[in-house]
Parts: sequence; C-alpha cells; structure tokens
Amino acid sequence: MQSLTVLGATGSIGCSTLDVVARHPDRYRVFALTGRERLELLASQCRQFSPEYAVVADAQSAARLEQLLRDAQCRTEVLVGVRSLCDVAADSRVDTVMAAIVGAAGLQPTLAAARAGKRILLANKEALVMAGGVFMEAVRSGDATVLPIDSEHNAVFQCLPAGVQKNVAGLDAGGVTRILLTASGGPFRTASLETMQSVTPDEACAHPNWQMGRKISVDSATMMNKGLELIEAHFLFGLAQDRIDVVVHPQSVIHSLVEYRDGSMLAQLGNPDMRTPIAHALGFPERIASGVGSLDLAAIGKLDFEVPDLERFPCLRLAREALCGKGAGACVLNAANEIAVEAFLRGRIGFMQIARVNEQVLDRFADRSTPKSLGEVLALDADARATANQLLDEVAA
Ligand code: NAD
Ligand code: MG
Repeated sequence: MQSLTVLGATGSIGCSTLDVVARHPDRYRVFALTGRERLELLASQCRQFSPEYAVVADAQSAARLEQLLRDAQCRTEVLVGVRSLCDVAADSRVDTVMAAIVGAAGLQPTLAAARAGKRILLANKEALVMAGGVFMEAVRSGDATVLPIDSEHNAVFQCLPAGVQKNVAGLDAGGVTRILLTASGGPFRTASLETMQSVTPDEACAHPNWQMGRKISVDSATMMNKGLELIEAHFLFGLAQDRIDVVVHPQSVIHSLVEYRDGSMLAQLGNPDMRTPIAHALGFPERIASGVGSLDLAAIGKLDFEVPDLERFPCLRLAREALCGKGAGACVLNAANEIAVEAFLRGRIGFMQIARVNEQVLDRFADRSTPKSLGEVLALDADARATANQLLDEVAA
C-alpha cells in the first residue's frame, strides 16, 4: 500500500491522478490533498478518499472547506499555507507525492518532498525549470526518485533502458545520442502571424488534443510549453540543449522519442490522455490500468511531422537561448512567462506580446549567473517578475 499526497488535487492533473487512484483502492491510500480554489470539488474529493489532511491557501478558504466537510461528516483536518504544503509533502507517513501545482508556487513543497527522499511524480515543470540545479541536487542528496509525468518526458523515460532509468545521468553510457520531443503545435499551428496578433484567451486555451489548465494551455499556444519542456528535459536527463530536438506532430500520438548510437529511434505512443503517464509513474516498475482506451492506429490513418516555425513561435527559440546564457536564463524566462501569461489571460496584453515580454526580461538578466540555493532562486524569480510587471505597460502601449 502506497501512501500518497496530491499537491494540486483540484486541477486537471490532480483530477486525472485521483481517477487512476480510484481504480486501485488496494494499492493507494490518499494521505493529503491540496487545492487553492474549487473548494466544493476539494470537499467531494475528501469525502471520496478520506485523506488525513486537506491544505488550502488562506484562512477564508479553510473556514469554507471546514464547513463543507462538517456538513458531509468528513473528518479530514484542514491546514493552511505554504508551510503546510511542505509538511504534507515531506511527512514521514507519505511514500509518493504527485507534484501538480501549476507554476512557481509548486517549488517549495516539491523541494520539500525531494529533501525528504520521496518518490516524486513530477507534473509541475515550472518548479524544475526555475530551480533545475538546486532541485536535482536536492533529489540526489535526499535520495529521492523523480518520475516524469509530463507526457513527453514520461515517453522518453519509458524509451530508456532499465539501467539508465535508475540513473538518468547515464544516458551516454546507455548509447543515447539525442532526445526528440514532439509538439502538437497547439491551436495556432497553421494560423497566420497576423491572426495570431489578435487571438483571445479562450481561443488560445482551446487546445486541439489535450484538456488542460489555462496556464499550460496558453503555453501550448505560444509553444513556450515546448520551450519549458526542453529545459525540463535538459535538467531531468542531464543532456545539453543541442542534443534535444523538437518536432511538430499534430496528432499527439507519439509522445516523444529517444535516438540511439546505432540509428535506432524508440518512441512511446498512446491516446493523448494524461492518465497514461500518471498510471505509468504510479505503478512503476509495474504496469497498472489507467482507464485509457487502446490506440486505434488505423482510425488515425497517418502521423505527420513538421519543423517548428520559430518566427510565429519565438518562445521556443527563447528557451534555447535561456540555456545558452550565464545560467539564470531558465528561472528568469519562467518568471517572466508566468507574469506575461497572466496578463494575457486578464486582457492586459496581446498574445504575441507574451514573447516580447519574455524576450526583454531575458535580455535584461543576461549577465546574471546560476542561482545556487533556494533563497537565490526565489530572489531571482522575484526580481524577474518585478521587471516583467514593469514592462507590461510598455509592451502593451
Ligand atoms: P490546473 O490549473 O488545472 O491546476 C493547478 C492546481 O494547482 C490546482 O489544484 C490549483 O488549485 C493549484 N494551485 C494553483 N496555484 C496555486 C498556489 N499559488 N498555491 C497552491 N496551489 C495552487 O493545472 P494543470 O493543467 O493540472 O497543470 C498542473 C501542472 O502540471 C503544471 O505545471 C503543468 O505545466 C503540468 N502539466 C499539465 C498537463 C495537463 O495535461 N494538464 C500536462 C503536462 C504537464
Ligand atoms: Mg507536455
């Protein structure tokens, strides 16, 4: 029986995780659930899974959730704030932590899980992008295990030999020459640059293949998501950025590929449903049922591939540049992008201005070096956010 904390239980990944968990009551026990909003949903998840703890962001949410739980005669204890998120991620009664909070807010609890040596199911790519070196060092020193949930990285992981899966730093010894990340191209894959100037938040969030939270949906539309994933792969698999390529594959059936020295390429295929990578990581090294239907290749008919267009999707170029600089780029780019995406979703800036904010902030921090501790990461993140906020008005004008 594995004891599980789900950080970000009320989100898209959190709900898919609980869907898989509910299929295996004999294998998983839920220790804690967390969510910042959608308190009715969080209460109903507590009723269904009876965790010891539920963690929310503030006192008002806690009072509301406590009321909902009392009405339902549910005995889950309600906790509040970042400290409590870290506590339920690091608790000695927990084996596995699903890290599915979106954005930089997920860093501290995920890091707490790493330091406490947990098995971490990592969906929260922003945590790794902003704090790559610090995070991977915490994983090593805490003797934690990271299993990637992002479908591309999960696919890469599945295509690695078992020996390399245990020590992903051993990619060279395993004969790996290159990783190829697939990208759907998002809702604007074939849109003209002119159309893209004036798209709305709802259009940007209407992803053709995946149902996801709004932040990652906008990232998919700008292809910043693939940029963040490039950085994620760099830290996770210890590979230089020039050995990680991106190919647009509109059907989202091949989730990524690994190329070997002898010319072989191994791919992982499946329906675009996050319950597959979630079930893979939950069960690893065993295979467990996920609820995902089998892939009908004849119905799909063909698989297409294209080179990404860096002119319409400059964010992908920025991610490579961020890894080629003096070391602060990934953290800075992530912070700028979180501010820019939020501003776009609120109607403050246009879609193509997201990349402009990101590029300008990246330029201004070009001479900053790699943050070496959590404190340095948080300070750099705050600086880059402040600069991005200042630039919003300029860029929108
Ligand atoms: P979402 O917006 O649907 O859910 C986010 C969750 O985080 C919610 O539970 C929310 O309450 C919580 N949260 C948000 N801000 C918080 C804060 N400040 N403090 C505490 N909790 C907070 O997002 P999602 O689509 O589930 O994505 C979650 C993560 O997984 C992201 O990092 C995303 O990039 C990654 N991911 C998602 C998908 C997908 O298919 N949805 C695929 C790959 C990777
Ligand atoms: Mg992905």
